[in-house]
Amino acid sequence: MSSIPRRSLSSLSDHLLFRLQNSSINLRHLQQIQAQILTNIHLQSNSLITHFLSSCARSRKLDNALLFVQNLRRPYLYAWNSLIRLSVESGSGQQFLGFYSKMLRQNVAPDKTTFSAVLHGCVVFSEIKVGEAVHCQILKMGFDFDLFLLTGILNFYGKIGDLCSAKKVFDGMPERDVVAHNAMIGVLSKHGLASDARRLFDEMPERNSASWNSMITCYCKWDDVHSARMIFDQNPVKDVISWNAIIDGYCKSGLLETAQELFDQMGSAKNSVTWNTMITGYVQCREFNRAISMFQQMQVENVKPTEVTMVSLLSACAHLGALDMGRWIHAYIKHHNFRIDVVLGNALLDMYYKCGSIETALEVFHGLSRKNVYCWNTIIVGLGMHGYGKEAIDAFVAMENERTRPDGVTFVGLLCACSHSGLISEGRRFFSQIGVYGIEPGIEHYGCMVDLLGRAGFLEEALKLIETMPMKPNCAVWGSLLRACRIHKDAKLSEQVTKHLLELDPCDGGNYVFLSNVYASMNRWDDVESCRKMMLGRGVHKTPGCSLIEVNNVVHEFVIGDTSHPQFTQISAFLDEIAMELRDLGHEPDTTSVFHDIEEEEKENAVRYHSEKIAIAFGVMSTGPGKPIRVVKNLRMCSDCHAATKLMAKLFKREIIVRDRNRFHHFRDGSCSCRDYW
Ligand code: ZN
Ligand code: ZN
Repeated sequence: MSSIPRRSLSSLSDHLLFRLQNSSINLRHLQQIQAQILTNIHLQSNSLITHFLSSCARSRKLDNALLFVQNLRRPYLYAWNSLIRLSVESGSGQQFLGFYSKMLRQNVAPDKTTFSAVLHGCVVFSEIKVGEAVHCQILKMGFDFDLFLLTGILNFYGKIGDLCSAKKVFDGMPERDVVAHNAMIGVLSKHGLASDARRLFDEMPERNSASWNSMITCYCKWDDVHSARMIFDQNPVKDVISWNAIIDGYCKSGLLETAQELFDQMGSAKNSVTWNTMITGYVQCREFNRAISMFQQMQVENVKPTEVTMVSLLSACAHLGALDMGRWIHAYIKHHNFRIDVVLGNALLDMYYKCGSIETALEVFHGLSRKNVYCWNTIIVGLGMHGYGKEAIDAFVAMENERTRPDGVTFVGLLCACSHSGLISEGRRFFSQIGVYGIEPGIEHYGCMVDLLGRAGFLEEALKLIETMPMKPNCAVWGSLLRACRIHKDAKLSEQVTKHLLELDPCDGGNYVFLSNVYASMNRWDDVESCRKMMLGRGVHKTPGCSLIEVNNVVHEFVIGDTSHPQFTQISAFLDEIAMELRDLGHEPDTTSVFHDIEEEEKENAVRYHSEKIAIAFGVMSTGPGKPIRVVKNLRMCSDCHAATKLMAKLFKREIIVRDRNRFHHFRDGSCSCRDYW
């Protein structure tokens, strides 16, 4: 090889570079290239080495990379440094520490770059002890006047939350440049010391755009968007980061209009982070439709979305139950070759099961190359909410076989799954096992257990569990027992439980309605009246029922009593038709869930216009025969809607899937997957 003339050597090097830049390079090719570089010292240039190591890191072949570095003709500090940096960047855990110690054992002396990479690794993987040791080594090797490394150490202490050591490093610096100041502002900001950060900022002899941006971020982070805005307005060097930071601040404070105004002012200065910030802001403020139209606008302006965009949008679809839009985003992800990592994978799972398609969620789940505890939790919760209790338990067993450690959420998912499927003894067993996994049972686990026992009719036992809980029961816990009382028609206990609920949350209108219904069922009309008066006196209103349905990529919202939908007249006529047909099928409107102070006929009208019925009727009208209908409801389905939907599924030969506040109902041919147990 050494006889290759110089010219063809450089073209060989170019050729190898070209091959290494190919993103789908396989192991065999990597090994060929490795052999070529190792056997020819003239090919051992910084650029080729960096590209080779990056390729290894991309294909998760860091062991190959190590072998390569160890076999270079001469100890090569540059290569070791690249290896350590890449292993930190590729997120392969503590592996960088192994590389660092192998390097020392080969007698390669570390330099500034090495220390900086190792410190960075210690920050990323919270290697506190090692970081402190590296700090000592740096001092020992005489780098204690190196501003660059000292700033790295300062950052390290800041990130691990050791404010005291960070301050010591900063105070001990022989001189401080703008980067060191910025780092210290970052540390103070992290610890919520906004006024200390501001003092330092004001004292700075010179500031760059990062200084201004740290100060803006600091105020935004600690909910002082007003001060952030003042700094933003004074900033003479506004860059896209400053704009993004202030927009993010407004989004987090829920001031979306101001955020949008600034966004519009930016014109062509926007980048994908700006778009993501706005989209995420809308999602977090539950303005899902606006999030999606923001994305559509992003497409029009030809801005390339990132993984963050996709995750935010999937979460919007999940909330809206917008399955078609979710599917479209999934197709977009595939088409544009986004890497489906655990974060994006989990967002897909979540979207599919919340949009009612647990089958596709399972497909995505099985296709994931790596699963973490969040993915397992999502699939267990999803299976449970769809009424697949046994399958949720199977998933838990598989999770254990793959040695993924369950956490508190796993058990919430399991207990809910058992509850929704009536698996009483399994639920009891899981509840007793929580501690075995080193998890302290939390209030949510007790809530699930009360639900499980209550639904199965063990009302006394559920009450006892509440009374002996180590923490104060909250509304969710009492609420579970209340639902059980309703299913098992225990008026006396209902009254007792509702009083607890009213004490805890005097503003939840649902509780008053419930109590009033309980009294009505016992013919205690005076109590019904006083309950109503109490509710009105406290200015409490019942949350209006609201249902969403997606038709042709548009999400339609129906709120009870709202007639503003452009097709309301047709829908209303269709609902009357449906009501008659259901009557012929023997359906008697069940009006017990309506306030007992209106006339019987009006009550019937009130249940006829429950939002899920309107949404389902609209779905039948606007989609082709046989198409499944998916509706998302904000409250629990009432028993009349439940019974009527079972018959509608039969009448129209459609699968109707309703996600209510607690679970999914799959209505098929006259029955529901919840087996009337919800
Ligand atoms: Zn209803
Ligand atoms: Zn059901």
